[in-house]
Amino acid sequence: MALKVMKFGGSSVADVEKIRNVARRVAREYDAGHDCVVVVSAMGKTTDHLVSMADEVSGGNPHPRELDMLLSTGEQVTIALMAMALENMGKSAISLTGRQVGIVTDFVHSKARIREISTERLSQLLGERKVCIVAGFQGSTENDDITTLGRGGSDLTAVAIAAALKADVCEIYTDVLGVFTTDPRVVPGARKIDQITFDEMLELATQGAGVLHNRSVECAKNYNVTLHVRSTFSEEPGTLVVKEIENMEDIVISGVAFRRSEAKITIRNVNDEPGVAAKLFTALAKKHIQVDMIIQNETLNQRNDIGFTVSGADSAKALEVCEALKAELGGSEVVCDRNVAKVSAVGVGMQTHVDVAATMFRALSEAGVNILSITTSEIKITVLIAEEQVDRAVQTIHDAFELSKTA
Ligand code: ADP
Ligand code: ASP
Ligand code: MG
Repeated sequence: MALKVMKFGGSSVADVEKIRNVARRVAREYDAGHDCVVVVSAMGKTTDHLVSMADEVSGGNPHPRELDMLLSTGEQVTIALMAMALENMGKSAISLTGRQVGIVTDFVHSKARIREISTERLSQLLGERKVCIVAGFQGSTENDDITTLGRGGSDLTAVAIAAALKADVCEIYTDVLGVFTTDPRVVPGARKIDQITFDEMLELATQGAGVLHNRSVECAKNYNVTLHVRSTFSEEPGTLVVKEIENMEDIVISGVAFRRSEAKITIRNVNDEPGVAAKLFTALAKKHIQVDMIIQNETLNQRNDIGFTVSGADSAKALEVCEALKAELGGSEVVCDRNVAKVSAVGVGMQTHVDVAATMFRALSEAGVNILSITTSEIKITVLIAEEQVDRAVQTIHDAFELSKTA
């Protein structure tokens, strides 16, 4: 018999009937003799509603500790209801918060990192043949303050528990059949991928493919967790995330990811001397601001522009840092463009195919999409573009690499 960690996202538990549906699915696995740990998200759009209430009462600047206190309540509703639904089906179940499971995190509210998970209580309960229903997305610090792991963080809870328990599989149940070549909501012809490597999945998730939280993929890769992304509403097998795939290089591009609400911040005319970038990016890191693309222009008259992109949510904090440093760096002004987005093509095969960038840029130019800047890594090419052109750009790149065709 297997030890399974099954994670159900917000849309899978959006209402009471859906919670019952999930409970039936879990009950089936339990009756088959498997040990089940079930990780759940908040119901439907609960977390979004909580965030907007917090913004309303705090003038858009909620205290980080109190925000986590509030957001963690969403998952707590689901665990209790799920346990009740299972009990009602005659299955022995128990709900557990992050703290009760022993998920200890660092002190960084709303982006906390897991330091350790104690498996004692879970193992004992599983030994008693209980279904353990765990609240995703939350943990607690050594001081017993509640933390959250970042939006979409229930995936990470599930993978981290699977790693700690050495589970046979971590199944991520969601509202699509698996990982697609791009978001099927944007490109209806997107194709489900049967198998994808950890590296490609990590890159896709980091570049915006919301189907998996990027840190969950990283964790699965580090601890070699078998990860299966599949649908709550179908029996079909989904996507397996694996270490390696045979004939990997035959597939040039695996998928296209995008992130809509990015902000590009530039400090103009900074001094051209050692230490400028170091000071700026150290200050941003100290505020826990995740910088994405870095854009530095060529020097002209001993001055240059230094810019970077961050998520829209971090833009106000990043602007503050830049304004505070502007004079020290000799900069003349700080500008922020909030209407940008990035689109990335990801694939291990691009390392051995020379014409990938050219194909992508040609297709974008034919579609009239202007590229604001470009970054690359071994397995991805990312372009920054105007936000209103995202859908067209994604469709264009998807077509250019013929991703709808079966591999
Ligand atoms: P959950 O609530 O189950 O965590 P999410 O909304 O976080 O679900 O993730 C599922 C959604 O991710 C899908 O509905 C889909 O619109 C979106 N998505 C984005 N990129 C992809 C992709 N490459 N493959 C599949 N789904 C994707
Ligand atoms: N409820 C949290 C969110 O909406 C965590 C999750 O669903 O994974 O971001
Ligand atoms: Mg999710």
